[in-house]
Amino acid sequence: CGIFGIVGHPEASNLAYLGLHALQHRGQESAGIVASDGQSLRAHREMGLVADIFTAPVIEQLPGGAAIGHVRYSTAGVSQLKNAQPLTVEYVGGHLAVAHNGNLVNAQELRTSLEADGAIFQSDSDTEVVIHLIARSRQPTFEKKVVEALSKVKGAYSILFLTEKKLVAVRDPNGFRPLVLGMLKNSWVLASETTALDLIEAEFIRELEAGEMVVIDETGLHASHPFPPTRLGRCIFEHVYFAKPDSVLFGTSVYETRKELGRQLAKEQPAPGADLVIAVPDSGVPAAIGYSQASGIPYDVGLIRSHYVGRTFIEPQQSIRHFGVKLKLSAVRQVLKGKRVVVVDDSIVRGTTSRKIVKMLKAAGAVEVHLRISSPPTQWPCFYGIDTPSRQELIASSHTVEEIARYVTADSLGYISLEGLGTAVGDRERNTFCTACFSGQYLTGNLTASATTESA
Ligand code: 5GP
Ligand code: SF4
Ligand code: MG
Repeated sequence: CGIFGIVGHPEASNLAYLGLHALQHRGQESAGIVASDGQSLRAHREMGLVADIFTAPVIEQLPGGAAIGHVRYSTAGVSQLKNAQPLTVEYVGGHLAVAHNGNLVNAQELRTSLEADGAIFQSDSDTEVVIHLIARSRQPTFEKKVVEALSKVKGAYSILFLTEKKLVAVRDPNGFRPLVLGMLKNSWVLASETTALDLIEAEFIRELEAGEMVVIDETGLHASHPFPPTRLGRCIFEHVYFAKPDSVLFGTSVYETRKELGRQLAKEQPAPGADLVIAVPDSGVPAAIGYSQASGIPYDVGLIRSHYVGRTFIEPQQSIRHFGVKLKLSAVRQVLKGKRVVVVDDSIVRGTTSRKIVKMLKAAGAVEVHLRISSPPTQWPCFYGIDTPSRQELIASSHTVEEIARYVTADSLGYISLEGLGTAVGDRERNTFCTACFSGQYLTGNLTASATTESA
């Protein structure tokens, strides 16, 4: 998911709309904006894309100097309006809106005990647990209620809270998901990625630190670190695939990092004798360019991506996913005919896409197809807010690289190593990133099927 917030701007909801537009790649199922005019909150949430939902008349209904917004994709099935964010509630403390990116791993457990105690839930969202915990807190101030509530949850959250009078932003102590702070003239901006700041011409100030809380109200911005520090667990897959290439993420350029992944991949998994390097667009492009640079094999465009279909994996239904590949990609016969081709992609999940791509390339005349992947084999599901299927569906959890190569019908298959991935993101020791989907090392304890509620 993607989140955006702005305080102190007369056109807050308009800017939230633009910010969400820049973050659309992080979720395409639903979008929402909640604005505050200092007295009350107004919300609009709908299924679909930001540009379709937020027409001028809709934005006009969201007046005020502060706003938060959210774009969502679900990771556990149901894609419904009731789970669209920002969630809004009225409780004893007033009005509250919440926009969350990440997934809480103990949400189900907390929900069960809250329900046993009489709580009534309106959605399947893990985020709603946080709202209940805030509403039940006996702490004297809103900030303290937030801290108490978040002290009880485990997992990933970059989260924004908007009340009539303030905006509170928090990043979980592991720092799984990104969250950045910017300034636009006199207003503060928060966003999942710097690309949203760039669009609205806000200045990038800094990333929120892991475990940091920022409160913005009429007295200004107040930062604190209310949680005990722990090992950093920034999501390495944001660099591999999820974030937009023009963003600066966890201190480094996503584009440069992906190119470096490609260079590293070329060193580790060469393809001697190949005629050209192509990418699976869009996510494989920077790594393919890096691969070409390091190997000296020319880069060319062998696959064309239709711009009228979304990211396949974000489509929640298997039936759509199935169709997606052909709708999304077409092969350039003139480039591929008679060629030995290296094709670079960012990851293999189920293997179904890769299989179709290899077949498509061969049907277009490629004589050899050497598949190179700029992340290690995806063997474990993510419980921290990235859509991965169950372990059984991950082809690399039960098949060797040779078996996967045979399944996808590639002449050869090579993945970057976990060490190489760490080096490329600037963390050789791999102790500041989460790598659980590749290594099985979950930072919040051993997880199996625990995260069963909807994630944000
Ligand atoms: P597969 O070959 O596993 O069917 O699909 C791999 C493609 O899905 C890659 O092009 C990759 O960009 C995309 N993808 C990346 N991340 C994910 C993810 O988390 N889940 C799924 N299902 N696909 C992903
Ligand atoms: Fe990111 Fe993978 Fe960790 Fe999930 S398990 S947070 S996708 S690195
Ligand atoms: Mg892709």
